[in-house]
Amino acid sequence: MSSFDAFLEAQLRRIEQQNLHRKLRLVSSPQGARIVIDGRPAVNFSSNDYLGLASDPRLKEAAIEATRQFGAGSGASRLISGSLQPHQELERSIARFKGTEAALVFSSGYAAALGTIPALLTDTDFIAIDKLVHASIVDAARLSGATMRVFKHNDVNDLEAILRWMAQKRGPASKVLIVTESLFSMDGDFAPLQEITALKESYDAWLMVDEAHATGIFGMTRRGRIEEVGLEGKIELQMGTLGKVLGASGGFICGTGRLIDFLVNRARSFIFSTAPPPSLSGAATAALQIVTSKEGGELVKKLRENIRSLNSGTSPVIPHLVGSEAAALALAQELLSRGFFVPAIRYPTVARNKARLRISISAAHNTDDVRRLAEALPRSQ
Ligand SMILES: *Cc1c(COP(=O)(O)O)cnc(C)c1O
Repeated sequence: MSSFDAFLEAQLRRIEQQNLHRKLRLVSSPQGARIVIDGRPAVNFSSNDYLGLASDPRLKEAAIEATRQFGAGSGASRLISGSLQPHQELERSIARFKGTEAALVFSSGYAAALGTIPALLTDTDFIAIDKLVHASIVDAARLSGATMRVFKHNDVNDLEAILRWMAQKRGPASKVLIVTESLFSMDGDFAPLQEITALKESYDAWLMVDEAHATGIFGMTRRGRIEEVGLEGKIELQMGTLGKVLGASGGFICGTGRLIDFLVNRARSFIFSTAPPPSLSGAATAALQIVTSKEGGELVKKLRENIRSLNSGTSPVIPHLVGSEAAALALAQELLSRGFFVPAIRYPTVARNKARLRISISAAHNTDDVRRLAEALPRSQ
């Protein structure tokens, strides 16, 4: 065996021994509340498509129409070959939806984080992130070269201690950025955004809030948690994704026109990457029309009803803690044999021995689907 193959083989064996091996499972149906996975039908509790828009005929039609008018591909980066009309329209729609001056679309949420944070910070700066933020934020923070400190999950006292430490260390020109999610993707809990915003103001820091899972389902006009808790206009950077509630694919940053102008000039994952296909912007624009209409309100109502069949909260992400990786896998397998696809989430997505089933609820589920799942689940530990 070559040294290359020997390396790969040893790594794979290690991953397997830890019950952490993953493989791709074939889905031969569209994404939706019911899918066909590895050849068998199942009710799908794995998706972030909380309003059931990913396979909505109107999104599909909009993607096809954008393809017809503007082509399958975008040709180059938007700074090189020009910015196609569907992308411009989508960004205007996002900014209007979020109530910000402007927005910038990236090919994924991951790319949005990776482009934005290193554009803002260098090795003379500081970044404080919640222990449970998404990997894209962690990677972006590392890439920036800024001094990174991790605060205990949702713990404002720990954040304050870190900010105090940074205040002593920082030079007159150095910046401090705090990053959190509003609805956490694997635990389904909410960040204390008001307290964090108050802290960033008293410590002269900036705040970036990743609303990947909250955009489209929280707040009076469904802008997200920032709207729901009344913090609009107070947060420097808002991040979101187009691949979750909005049923398409991509990520975005929104904020002031000056911020977006800066990112167009400095965010490397935007500058040095081919623009997403026109179809993506077509579909996401159609999704925003639905989410902002009366129908969007009704879908959220249906989503809440479905969530209530499982617990008393409002989060569509419901973790069912198991503990060991092997036990989580076994439980997921058993549920699948009974027709429920609920993925086991393991390290490194969550901490070791915090393996869990991650139940995602959708407005597209029947209330009965959710009730049957509740009956099939063992009592949580
Ligand atoms: C999904 C997700 C991302 C990444 O978005 P993609 O579009 O999937 O790359 C970033 N942050 C959070 C909190 C997410 O859940």
